[in-house]
Amino acid sequence: MLYAQIDQKLVSANEVLVTQANFRCPGCGAQVRYRHGQLNVAHFAHISARCAFEAEPESAAHLMGKLQLYQLGTQIGEAQVEVVFSTIKQRADVVVEYKKNKYILEYQCSPISRTQVKQRTRAYQQLGYEVIWLLGPKYQQSKIRKSLVAKFNDALLIFYNYKTQKCTLTANFNEVDFQSLQSISQEYELDQLLQVIKIYKKRVFWQDSPTTKQVLIQQSIKIQQQLVRKNKEWLQIQQECYQVKHNLSGVPWICHPKKSMPLGLAMPHILWRSRCVLLLEHYPLETIFAVSKLQNMFVKQGCWLTIDERLCRYIVNQFIIELVSNQVLTRIGPGKLELICYPEWYANWQFKTNSLKLN
Ligand SMILES: [Zn+2]
Repeated sequence: MLYAQIDQKLVSANEVLVTQANFRCPGCGAQVRYRHGQLNVAHFAHISARCAFEAEPESAAHLMGKLQLYQLGTQIGEAQVEVVFSTIKQRADVVVEYKKNKYILEYQCSPISRTQVKQRTRAYQQLGYEVIWLLGPKYQQSKIRKSLVAKFNDALLIFYNYKTQKCTLTANFNEVDFQSLQSISQEYELDQLLQVIKIYKKRVFWQDSPTTKQVLIQQSIKIQQQLVRKNKEWLQIQQECYQVKHNLSGVPWICHPKKSMPLGLAMPHILWRSRCVLLLEHYPLETIFAVSKLQNMFVKQGCWLTIDERLCRYIVNQFIIELVSNQVLTRIGPGKLELICYPEWYANWQFKTNSLKLN
C-alpha cells in the first residue's frame, strides 16, 4: 500500500522521513513496514497475516499500476488512492470522480475468484460507485477465455499495462465452437475509456461472420474427437442421443450455428442446440408452440454465462430463426410456431460431411 497511518495521520510512502516507526494499515489497523526496493516503488506492507481490506496481495506491478492510475485520475477529475470503506471492509485502489460519475478503479494483477469479484463489485455499487476492473499484464499476456470474460461479469474486458501506461478495451466477443474466441481490442486514454464503457453499457456489440463449409466440416470431425476422447460434456449428451437411437457425431447441421455467436452460453453451441433438437423430438409433428414458451424451453436446455441477458435472448432467437428457415418450424399467426419436420440426423460424421460436400 502507498499510504499508512501514523499517530492518526495518513502518510505517503514517498514522503516518510523515518522508515522505522509504528506504521499502521489504514484499513485493518495492523502493523505495516516501510519498504523500498530497487524495482519497487516505496510502499508499506503488512508484517503478518493478510489484510481483509485488500483485494489481492501487493506486487510491484500492482503498486506501480495503482499509483499511475491515481495520477491519470487526477488529470481528468478528482481522484484518491487507496480509499478505505470501513462499512464494507474494502479498500479501493483508486476512486475517480469524472463527469459527475463516481468510479472505482480496481487494478487486478493476481488471480481472483468470481465470487470475490461479484461481492466486491456489488458492495461498491451499493455505495453508488461504478466499478472498473483493470486487468494487469499477466491477464493481458494470456489467451482470453470465456471464463475470464464471465468472471468480470461484462461483455468486455479492460487491461492496463503499467509499462506502457495504456488502457486496452477488448470487446465484441464472438465465438465459433472449437475455435478461439474472437474479439476487437483498442487502446484508450482513461477519460476516453470511461466514455466508451458508457456506450457499451447501453448497447452490446459483436461482429458476426458466416460459418464456412470448411469450419462446419472441422466441427463435425471435432465432435467425433470429443466422443473418442470420452469428453464428459459430450458423452453425457451422447447417452441422451443413444436413448432415441441417434448418434451425436451425426448431429443435424441445424445444430451448427450458421454464423459466429456472441458470448452467452457456457457450453458449446452445438451441444446446447443438440439438446434442444432432442427436446423437440418429444413433441409430435403439428404441435403448436407459443414463441415465448419455446424460448423458455430452449433457455432451460443451456448452461448460461451471466454476461448480458440481451445476448442470451439473441442466441435463442437466432436458433429459432434458423429452425424456421430450415423448415423445422413454421410461423402460424402472431407469436405461434408449428413443428412441421424433425431435423435430419446422420449415422455418423462421415455421412454427415459427405452430405455437405454433395450440396
Ligand atoms: Zn490491513
